[in-house]
Parts: sequence; C-alpha cells; structure tokens
Amino acid sequence: MAADREIKLKLLVESWCNRVVFAECDSEFVDVLFSFLTMPMGSIIHLCGKETKMGCIDRLYQSVEELDERFFENEACKSMLLRPRSPSELKCANLAVNYNVAAPSTGYHLYACNCIYSKDPVSYYRGCQCRLCGGIMDHQLALRYPSGSSGVFVQQKKEFVVRDDLQVIPFVASETLSVMKKLGNTRNTVEERDVKIGSEEVLRLLKCSLHSQTALTDALLSNNIPITGQVKLKSDEKASDFVKNEQTNKGRRTMKRKLVMNRETKEVLHLEAREDLVNQILSFLTFPFGSVLKLMRGSAAGSPFLGSSVSNIYSAAEEFSTGGDNPFKSEESKTELVSPRLGCFMGCDDQLLIHHLVDEADSPPFYTVYCHAKYRSPCALDVIDTEPGYCRHSIKKVQKNAINPKLPNGGTAKGGGFMRTNTSCIITDDLSIKPLSSSTVFLVMNRYRLIVDEVEKQEISIGEEEAAAILRASMTSQTVLTDVFIRTGDKGKSFCTAGTLGA
Ligand SMILES: [Zn+2]
Ligand SMILES: [Zn+2]
Repeated sequence: MAADREIKLKLLVESWCNRVVFAECDSEFVDVLFSFLTMPMGSIIHLCGKETKMGCIDRLYQSVEELDERFFENEACKSMLLRPRSPSELKCANLAVNYNVAAPSTGYHLYACNCIYSKDPVSYYRGCQCRLCGGIMDHQLALRYPSGSSGVFVQQKKEFVVRDDLQVIPFVASETLSVMKKLGNTRNTVEERDVKIGSEEVLRLLKCSLHSQTALTDALLSNNIPITGQVKLKSDEKASDFVKNEQTNKGRRTMKRKLVMNRETKEVLHLEAREDLVNQILSFLTFPFGSVLKLMRGSAAGSPFLGSSVSNIYSAAEEFSTGGDNPFKSEESKTELVSPRLGCFMGCDDQLLIHHLVDEADSPPFYTVYCHAKYRSPCALDVIDTEPGYCRHSIKKVQKNAINPKLPNGGTAKGGGFMRTNTSCIITDDLSIKPLSSSTVFLVMNRYRLIVDEVEKQEISIGEEEAAAILRASMTSQTVLTDVFIRTGDKGKSFCTAGTLGA
C-alpha cells in the first residue's frame, strides 16, 4: 500500500476572523474528499468514533456491537456490519493519505482455512466456517494489489480550489476571474498559509463535513471540534416522498409487521421484527455514503444534507465531467462516486433497496501460487494477488474465489442474511435492535412508564418505499418509526395499513 504521505494545501485565510476563504490544492486532496462518498456508513461511524451525530445511525451501529454473536450467522457477519469493506478499497489504498483504519497500515487482508483442503475459498472477513473441514477461516492472507500510478478518481496534475464548505472548483489559469467570482470577492485582509495534512486532519475533516458549512476552518484551523458553522439536519421524512421511479411496491415483496405504540401519544415503542426485517435495517451500515446522500438529495421533503459540506462534495462529483481535459479520469471513476456500490456479498435476500438505490459489487477473482518445497526460497504462501500470471519460479497462479459469509454452506452465491434464521428482535423508535424477550419488552415499556393497557398494536407493511423512508429518517431523526409510520404532515401519509389490533 502507498506509504502515508502528507498533502500540501495552500490556505487563503481571512486573518481578522481566522477563517478559510479557500484552499488551493491538487488532485491528491480532491481524491481524498471524493473517497468519503465510497465509504460504507459503518466505516464512517467507526472512523468518527460513533459520533457522527446523524439521526440515530450511531445507535444502530452500537446495537450491532452489543448484540451477542450467537444471533448472527457467524462472527464474520458481525464484522461485515461493523467494518464493512468497500469495493473501492483497493483504489483508495492509493490515496496520498489513507485514513481508513479498517485498512490497517499492514494493508488489506483476506482469510482462509488452515486445513489441507484450503486451496479453495477465501473470505473478506475473519470467522467464516470452512465448508470443507468445518474449522474457522481465520488464517490471514495479505492482499497484494497493483499500486495506482496516476490519480485515484481525478486526473493527476489537475489543480483545484476548494471552498470552506468543500465546494470543489477546477482551477484553470485562464479562467481565474470566473473562479474568483464564484469564490466571492473579499475586501478583507487575507493571508496565505501553507499547511500539511495527514490522516488525523482528514478524519477531522470527514467529521466536520457531516455538519459544518465551514469544514476547512473547523477541521484545519480550530484545534478541537465543537463545530462553529453547524447545520441543523431537518427531520421531516415521509415515506411517501420516495419513489418517482415506476418501480413501486406493487408486485414487490412487502413485510407485514406489528408496531407497538403508546395508545395516547401515538409514539412508537417498538416494532416486532424477524430476521428478514432486521437484515434490511442492519444493512444500512453497509450502504456507501454516496448512495445515502443520493437518496437524501432526491427527497421531496427537501435535502436535509443540502447545507452540509459533504453534500457539496457529492455535487462536485455529479457536476464534473470525464475524459479529455475534464477532472475525472474516466466515466467509471464518476460512477463509483455518484452511484457507489455495496461491497461484495453485502446484499441480503429480499433486499428492498438493492437495484433501486444501490447495486452490489461482484467479487473479483483472486490468485495465489503454491510454490513451496522444491525451491530454496519459495514464494510466500500467505499472499493473495488480484491478477493472474506466474510466480518468479514460473509456476502458474491458482484462482481462488471469495465466499459469502452470510451463507451457512459458505457458497459463492449472493444473498443470505446477517442474522441467524428464526431470530426475533424488537426494533425501538431510535433503531436500537434487541433480541425479543419478555424482559426487553418490559424494559422498553418501563422506560416510558407504561402498562399493558396503555399500548396498542398496529399492523404495518414495509416495502421499498418504507425501507427508503426508514433509511432517510435514520440519518436525521431519533424517532424514526414514529416519523415514518405515524406522523403525517400536510402532504404525507402514514403507512399503517390495518387498524388497531389491540395489545
Ligand atoms: Zn478447512
Ligand atoms: Zn514461486
């Protein structure tokens, strides 16, 4: 992996208020900003130390941490949610600053079984069961990949100016005046400051980009976050705002579930869910940030992220062109940011949002070489390549396929679920997920100081529209289920399909 370098920025700072007007930078910095869009939500939450402060998505992440491993298909399924891998990870390993702690300084790994049959499968995550010997696949293999030569997403040697709110503007010397116009004239005293940023600053910038309109100032000039230019994320999500696409819930699978709510205040206490619905909600953690932003921006309720800097990064990716003298290296680079895909094997059975919002990446083939014994210095066995060919002893590399950790038989097909079959859970209004038992229900009721007579049940059905509404609300609200299923606005409708069923 590329050694961590530092990125040089030239900041133009308004000295009287210590505020960044803009930063002059090259492709390296813009590549880092764009890489935010490829990161799965779970990684972002992890990198921000569970303090993204977006809706209740941190809470959802925490529930996964707290859920006992026995409720998951295996140990690997829990890691898939807490440390989801991105199909862009190898590309992003060539960023000048690799801030992704899911990719430790030792690089990316795959896992295999140590058994004598272990020539076949590998896994992206530690802890799958070997389908040949039944052992646990925890033998670590180093993933070796070609280092990128010229830029990650944008063309190298391009110059950009990035505003304090992370608007990215390609800089062409002959268009200096129009760029200045976009930046707004400032008559105040400005000074130039050269800064170098490493992984620590990039992480701060990621965190600030979620809420702040002055992300550069907050991340690079103030020593600690509290954020000054904070944007309040709106929460007025209605499921009905989603889907202008011809694909609707008709003919698609919906899940009927029971919502338990406070009879008087109509606040949702919890939703009783089987593993299929829990998988849907958990999989939000695997969605790339770019796809979530895309969903939020498409919302008729207005884009709650519109004021935040990260939304400006998405806009730049949308606006920039590809090829020729344009910023992006290729059409593929642009697609990777504007419509990023789910990591390999992340899609669940009956995933309601797949295809509509995100597609799942295919796993590439991997190669290894068995070259031991007869050579004095055989090639390392614990290395996996992403390209076929021969080792330096002219032995042909053998292809290995990755398995889907969610399938109990360790197959290479897509689908499956993170949770073990026949797991029943309750999902509370703030998306805490807990195994269903009388004690958990009792605790929830107790939290609201309710007795059985004070609650009622309603039947709801959850299809694609509702799943999208839950995802959107999870980014802005602490009362997701109430917002989506109960509260109705002027133009909204709630999704309670049946009347009161009684407690
Ligand atoms: Zn084995
Ligand atoms: Zn060899």
